[in-house]
Amino acid sequence: MAAAPITQDVMTIPRKLPEGPTNLIGLTRDGLRSALIAKGTPEKQAKMRAGQIWQWMYQWGVRDFDGMTNLSKAFRAQLAADFVIEIPEVVSKQVSKDGTRKYLVRIAGGHEVEVVYIPEEGRGTLCISSQVGCTLTCSFCHTGTQKLVRNLTAGEIVGQIMLARDDLGEWPEQGAPNVEARLLSNIVLMGMGEPLYNFENVRDAMKIAMDPEGIQLSRRRITLSTSGVVPEIARTAEEIGCLLAVSFHATTDEVRDSLVPINKRWNIETLLDALRAYPRVSNSERITFEYVMLDGVNDSKEDAHRLVKLIEGIPAKVNLIPFNEWPGAPYKRSSGNRIHAFADIIHAAGYSSPIRRPRGEDILAACGQLKSATERARKSRKQIDAEAGL
Ligand code: SAH
Ligand code: SF4
Repeated sequence: MAAAPITQDVMTIPRKLPEGPTNLIGLTRDGLRSALIAKGTPEKQAKMRAGQIWQWMYQWGVRDFDGMTNLSKAFRAQLAADFVIEIPEVVSKQVSKDGTRKYLVRIAGGHEVEVVYIPEEGRGTLCISSQVGCTLTCSFCHTGTQKLVRNLTAGEIVGQIMLARDDLGEWPEQGAPNVEARLLSNIVLMGMGEPLYNFENVRDAMKIAMDPEGIQLSRRRITLSTSGVVPEIARTAEEIGCLLAVSFHATTDEVRDSLVPINKRWNIETLLDALRAYPRVSNSERITFEYVMLDGVNDSKEDAHRLVKLIEGIPAKVNLIPFNEWPGAPYKRSSGNRIHAFADIIHAAGYSSPIRRPRGEDILAACGQLKSATERARKSRKQIDAEAGL
């Protein structure tokens, strides 16, 4: 088999951004401790101080050293001289008719990513991004037509959760018991980018989100979606332990090669082997198979039967995603009848097969639409500049 044309130049991008005071957001607990020691905190005190600062930042949402009232004034002043506490800046927020909120967020270097909050009955899911753009080129995905700009840092990833909590007003009152977040109760890594090509930063950010003295999201409320980076799947189980979703989308290698080109490197069989091992290693429940419904491409009854055979023996749920069209997309959404017929076959075989209801379509917040909105924003800014004669 010919080598797949997949570049992974993201690995050569340094994790640390240009110099400046160190941002404490995104450091692991150990990293925070080391950063304090490097700036003169005695080693004996560092663990305790790191724990106190951690709690201020992640449990109470405090961004200002002066507000950390259990630290001495002199220590707070020293911290303010050496460090910053920064999360990405929200450039704009749109709220859909259905309550979905989409934030356009600016990160260092002036790049932008989108973060989507989806309120549901009794819970709320935040869809976060792991990269600006994507190195992969899935043919139905708008993000895939945008070149990778860079990996997000761990701070920029966990920062997306923090800015949503800011907007939802969901930091608990200081001193109050830290109950499980209600408005923002679940995280899906399903925004822009391939999370497993930014493994360390995604892992560190999720560890922060799961920490019991902080944002406190259970690992069962975090779902990481991958296009199928097989070597990192076992690592995800071991080092993160969250739930896994896989962008499956086809039932033959021929079709999957054309939709999800990473399949040329790790084909369906190799991917399924890795998925079979996942629940055992991560002690998680089911794997979510995401399946985008493309008219006449992957939506036949034969496909549904083949899919059932392929996933046999894997604790699974199949999430059917009606294709979200974007300008110039080479596919059409399958008809409602097709999608229902497909869902029925999967369901009859004993798997849950929900059809994902597109959310926030009026604000272009649905899966695979994220790039278009950013470009629109860019375009309108360009227009504004042009009008201003810049
Ligand atoms: N890169 C990761 C996660 C981001 S994509 C991955 O590929 O899994 C999140 C989900 O949206 C994936 O299942 C992806 O295949 C799907 N998706 C992308 N473009 C879409 C579109 N235009 N319509 C519907 N789903 C889409
Ligand atoms: Fe990248 Fe996922 Fe889009 Fe594929 S579907 S191009 S992996 S963001």
